[in-house]
Amino acid sequence: MSRYYLDYNATAPVRPQVAAAVTSGLHAGNPSSVHDEGRRARAVMDDARRRLARLFNARPEGVIFTSGGTEACNLALHLRAAPAGPVRRILIGKTEHAAVLKAAQAIGIQNELPAVQVLPVHPDGTLDMAALEVALQDATPTLVCVMLANNETGVLHPVADIAAKLRAHGSVLFCDAVQAAGKIAIDMQALGCDAISVSAHKLGGPMGVGALIVRNGLVVSPLLLGGGQELGRRGGSENIAGILGFAAAAEMAHQELVDFAGLGAWRDAMEAALKESQPQVEIFGAQAPRLANTSCFGLAGLNSETLVMALDLAGIAVSAGAACSSGKVSRSHVLAAMQTRGQTEGQVGENADGALRVSFGWQSQADDWHRLIEIWSDLAAKADQLAAE
Ligand code: PLP
Repeated sequence: MSRYYLDYNATAPVRPQVAAAVTSGLHAGNPSSVHDEGRRARAVMDDARRRLARLFNARPEGVIFTSGGTEACNLALHLRAAPAGPVRRILIGKTEHAAVLKAAQAIGIQNELPAVQVLPVHPDGTLDMAALEVALQDATPTLVCVMLANNETGVLHPVADIAAKLRAHGSVLFCDAVQAAGKIAIDMQALGCDAISVSAHKLGGPMGVGALIVRNGLVVSPLLLGGGQELGRRGGSENIAGILGFAAAAEMAHQELVDFAGLGAWRDAMEAALKESQPQVEIFGAQAPRLANTSCFGLAGLNSETLVMALDLAGIAVSAGAACSSGKVSRSHVLAAMQTRGQTEGQVGENADGALRVSFGWQSQADDWHRLIEIWSDLAAKADQLAAE
């Protein structure tokens, strides 16, 4: 049976060139060693660092290699120095990834900081800028965390506008760019971010490697203490094989950004077919600027987990609303946060309980979604029947 992989936001398949780059790094020495093998390992690692920095218009010294997106986000949450003084408060968007939300909660619990405040989003999924402005009336030096693209809906937040507001405030902006990197162009200087997180496997690199990229002069205190690697900001011998694959994948993704934008035509065609099949289907975030490859839709009466299993049996890989951890799917906090004014929690829940996330990528074909529509429409019609009985 043919398989249709429509889950690029979970992880993107590795290209042969990336696998070759990873393999070349498996034979490297330890970049901290002073002998020839070590120096050669450092040279290839620093070359990868320079190439990655260039893609995001950052400085090579700003690239701190980590074990992936989650570690990069956790490291960012420990940023403590803002232009206006030591960070005394954290503001986070309500639809941030668990890597940011849970790290912020943990910091709150540890009482390292007096305040962690969550910012609401509009029904279209974008950050409520008025709420941010109200929060910024308090002059407390703040770390603001707003993701560039949401992993479930693909919704893009107005990060450059947020950065402009923060500049006058003297606060720090961390932007989780794990889903946006390799899908849209990211220029850290133009966006005005102080730090971004990136993960290799979301853009076609290997799992288990990523980076926190920071602007010049930003002080980062390490989460992992050890041999002083990454300019003392992340202890532990670097994952050279992963880093080489990361740089190769990021370069390939950037060369294909125009093709990636073209995926929006398939996404739109699929959403039109969904609507034709079931006019009541809710496309989450459809009114906002979105990543071209992502669609999140839900219909009351359906169950995400059942849908994912039925589609898997038919050869189609998609995600159930929130990316599940350890196979467990729970109701999406992102979709709940997007509750439309006038909608009750229950109504949002019903659509969200039947939500699916479809995400395309470099190996997708124009008709990959056709079979999905067939199976989904079938299940939706059965749910209708059941409701009528
Ligand atoms: N941030 C976002 C927005 C994500 O989508 C993910 C992964 O799903 C992460 C962070 C964590 O990245 P990683 O899987 O590399 O730990």
